[in-house]
Amino acid sequence: MFHSGTHKVKETAMKAMVYHGDGKASWDDVPDAVLVDPTDAVVRVDAVTICGTDLHILRGHVPTVDRGRILGHEAVGTVTAIGSGVRQLAVGDRVLISCISSCGSCRYCRRTSYGQCSGGGGWILGNRIDGTQAEFVRVPFADNSTHRVPDGVSDENMITLADLLPTGYEVGAINGRVRPADTVVVVGAGPIGLAAIMTSQLFSPSRIVAIDLADSRLDAARKFGADIVINPDRLDPVAAIADLTGGLGVDAAMEAVGTAATFELAVQLVRPGGHVANIGVHGGPATLHLEDIWIRNLTITTGLVDTYSTPTLVDLVAAHRLDTSALVTHRYPLDEFERAYHEFSNAGETGALKVLLTQN
Ligand SMILES: [Zn+2]
Ligand SMILES: [Zn+2]
Repeated sequence: MFHSGTHKVKETAMKAMVYHGDGKASWDDVPDAVLVDPTDAVVRVDAVTICGTDLHILRGHVPTVDRGRILGHEAVGTVTAIGSGVRQLAVGDRVLISCISSCGSCRYCRRTSYGQCSGGGGWILGNRIDGTQAEFVRVPFADNSTHRVPDGVSDENMITLADLLPTGYEVGAINGRVRPADTVVVVGAGPIGLAAIMTSQLFSPSRIVAIDLADSRLDAARKFGADIVINPDRLDPVAAIADLTGGLGVDAAMEAVGTAATFELAVQLVRPGGHVANIGVHGGPATLHLEDIWIRNLTITTGLVDTYSTPTLVDLVAAHRLDTSALVTHRYPLDEFERAYHEFSNAGETGALKVLLTQN
């Protein structure tokens, strides 16, 4: 079903960030991205970023990623070639490449659950096929897996809509059922936590609480809309949330780290009848304390983003109702990808949220 990615039909002709296993990836010469199926497009990558998930791949947490794979599942670019089956795109169009590809016709895609696509899509870019951290990328199912960039919207504003914002919105705010006047807690104020904080505000909660061990991330959380911040090194989050909510707990708790401890904390912080939305990517098991929570009528959700909300988010950005540009903290030319990875993976010191790499 899946194509093997790099098709060695041409001589080496472009550069890309290639995964080599054992924590290593490098900016290598690779064969050109080319059309394979009629529904493919080839897109010149104008702007691309690195996701926390890429760091999970480097740590060996994502076994579907083979050595030799070009990484990356987020980009904004310009269409340079289209297959004979592509109807909605033309060469020269500026497009956002979604982290999720959609065949458009399987039972999941027909219910807008694109993340679970069983027709060869889902999260395939930079995972099962070559990704976007390259000069050019082959985009399968191009009509259903890209979004036209509205005039006047910059690559920088668009790039976080490839993955980060839809994930925070769908898997965080929507799965967490945030409603007007709710109290929301977001455990983890990295980029995903910030996206959950930003998009929760679309539902007018009374207050948003951010919890993180890094003060720099708590400062960012305030900037992106958190009303209250808690550093567990100085303040017990369970006691602080109990104080804040009259002993009840929050309406919605979002887990945005991907560790057992932060998931278990999110479950502890929610009120009876409340929602726990897990957003984090977990590499190991966590304990569900059913002995405590069976009586509390909790709803716990998990999710890979489907990106059904991307058109909504594109409209909000184009209408200046959502300002995503401040998420981009570091900028590099494409050929400094290795440095960008280094600085992104040391976010504690560098303060990196999203790093943007651009090709001129
Ligand atoms: Zn991602
Ligand atoms: Zn599908």
